[in-house]
Amino acid sequence: MAALNLARLIAAAADTIAAHAEELTALDQAIGDGDHGLNMKRGFEAVRSEAEAFAAKPLPEALKAIGTKLVMTVGGASGPLFGTLFMALGKEISAEPDRANLTAAFGKAIEAVAARGKSQVGQKTMLDVLQPVHDALTEGKTGAEVADAADAAAEATVPMKALRGRASFLGDRSIGHMDAGARSTALLVRTVAQTVGESA
Ligand code: ADP
Ligand code: MG
Repeated sequence: MAALNLARLIAAAADTIAAHAEELTALDQAIGDGDHGLNMKRGFEAVRSEAEAFAAKPLPEALKAIGTKLVMTVGGASGPLFGTLFMALGKEISAEPDRANLTAAFGKAIEAVAARGKSQVGQKTMLDVLQPVHDALTEGKTGAEVADAADAAAEATVPMKALRGRASFLGDRSIGHMDAGARSTALLVRTVAQTVGESA
């Protein structure tokens, strides 16, 4: 894998979230409380504002610090979950990860999110994108294929019934809408795949 330009990756992720904040808010308005776009934007702008400091750290330390920042700034249910994802990734990843290390670390990070959220695949949450992304990585898919798998997985949350998070309060009325956290996860996956791909 090419050396990772973390500062560039942070800027790209914050740009993506900012560009899609209204869409994420609209998704969360349909079956939640409508704060997901603002939550994510606040968190990723906070990370952007310290991008140079994060990028100066070795990758594992940088990811742990980004995770901590996201927990402090995103808020809602998704803040601790995205924070856990990055912190756990930082704990497991090596300073210069190859694909095998990245895939293994990502798998452990997903387990940490599931433990934190007391959730599992099939409950209409971010896990329903994270797990298929891990599967695609395991299968050796290209960055573009991994990003497409993430989009398809987010789309596949539409007919699901929410069993975790605020949307679960709606029961069957959660059916027919995409999960906001699944969408934001897919957006981030595509951004990472594209940015890492460009620097290859
Ligand atoms: P809140 O639900 O507190 O308003 P957000 O709107 O920021 O927080 O985030 C909602 C998203 O968080 C959901 O769309 C879902 O993907 C994710 N989520 C919520 N609860 C859980 C959970 N227990 N496990 C995994 N993901 C969850
Ligand atoms: Mg919400």
